[in-house]
This record gives sequence, C-alpha cells and structure tokens, in this order.
Amino acid sequence: MFIVNREEAVLRELNLYPLWKKRGQAVPAIQSLPPVGAEAVNATEPLPVGESVALHSTDDITGLAWPELKLRVRDCAKCKLRAGCTQTVFGVGDEQADWLFVGEGPGADEDAQGEPFVGQAGRLLDNMLMSIKLKRGKGVYIGNIVKCRPPGNRTPEAEEIAACLPYLKRQIELVQPKIIIALGKTAATALLGKDATLASLRGKLHEYQSIPLIITYHPAYLLRTPSDKLKAWQDLCLAVKTMEG
Ligand code: URA
Ligand code: SF4
Repeated sequence: MFIVNREEAVLRELNLYPLWKKRGQAVPAIQSLPPVGAEAVNATEPLPVGESVALHSTDDITGLAWPELKLRVRDCAKCKLRAGCTQTVFGVGDEQADWLFVGEGPGADEDAQGEPFVGQAGRLLDNMLMSIKLKRGKGVYIGNIVKCRPPGNRTPEAEEIAACLPYLKRQIELVQPKIIIALGKTAATALLGKDATLASLRGKLHEYQSIPLIITYHPAYLLRTPSDKLKAWQDLCLAVKTMEG
C-alpha cells in the first residue's frame, strides 16, 4: 500500500513547506557513455558493403539496445536543432524504471550538463517526485521529446519532433515502464499523436501503447503559475492510484 503524507506533500508543493532541498546524490551522467563496446568498434572499422549499408543508410532504430541507441542519439543530426546545441541530452535514470517522465526538450542547463531537468524546472520536478515518494534514478527514468536544445528554448517544431520521437519510442520499449507521465503539452500531444489543450488532457487516464499515460503541467509552467500546482499534485495522485491498481 502506498502511503504518502498528503497534507505535507500538498504544502510542500504549494511552497508552504521547506522546498528547495538539494538533491542528495548526483546521478551518473548518461552522456559518460560506457567504454566503447564491440559494436562501436565495428562501426568505425571497414565493413562488408552489406553491413555498412545496413548501419548507415537507414534511420531505422528498431531493435537497438541501449549502447547503440545512445551512440545513435549522440551522433544524430537528423534535424536542425543539432546545429544550435552543445550536445544531445539522451535521458537519465533507471533503465528498468516503473515510472517514466517525459519533458519537452533540454534547456540551457541541460544543454550544458547533458542531463534532463537539472535546472530550476528540474528542481521542481525532483520535489514533485519526492511528494509521491519517488527519486530521480530510483525506479524513475526521465527523458525528453527532443534531445537537442531548441534555440532560445522555443517549442520544438513538428518536423523536429517527428525526427526525434523514434528515439524516445525506443527508450520506452527498452524501459518498459508501468506508467508514463507527460510533462506539458508538447510531450502529451507527441505521445498521443493528436493535438489538444493541456487543460482538456490532464486529470484523466490515457494510454500510450497500452501503457497508462498521465498528462500534467510542465514544471517550468508551474514555476510561472504556482496556482496550478495543486492540479499537478492531483494528477500525480491519479498516477499513484493507477499504479496501485
Ligand atoms: N524542460 C524540459 O522539458 N526538459 C528538460 O530536460 C529541462 C527543461
Ligand atoms: Fe537528432 Fe533529435 Fe537532435 Fe534532432 S533533436 S538532431 S532528431 S537528436
């Protein structure tokens, strides 16, 4: 049975409770990739023509395992966002997580550090996680719709989302989360494959590929509109209830 001190958590999320607790432990940065493995070595060596074509002439990431997927994203330049960012930001956390949180795309801090949600919005996300007794990296995976920072933090364009979404889809296949939380309209509509307002989508249960999907406000929006934190809290409670079955 999931027990949470609701009152304390509500107060915390309404900024009426000591809030900005420092994250206790740094999570290893995903960008520090594992030592170059056999596949990666092969990729740099001359290959028989057939294999070379298979490796380089297709966007197909079907069946890729984590190391290859990370390399593919690291080296990706499928859309124009790559030219304007410092590095791709793959995703972070428990690769077998039950909970998957999906944001929009890296901001300045994420672009610099190579990890999702490490800026101000990330601190709020960590507190939202804490309010339902979750912790970054412990049964939680955090990713974004686009892996490269859009210039000036603009909303990613439809064709950028279309170019990048296959990576997240493969991440979801690999993680096999029990629930997905879409943070904000960009994540929600990309995963649903249809346009709608966030107000019309939040507060109820959706599905992505048969996985329960909860849609709530983006933490950056909540920083600007703290009066909606209560609704975000209610969405998280719905997620917890869904997980309890
Ligand atoms: N906003 C997002 O949508 N993702 C991040 O990683 C950081 C801020
Ligand atoms: Fe590739 Fe995604 Fe970056 Fe575009 S945003 S270049 S598709 S990793």
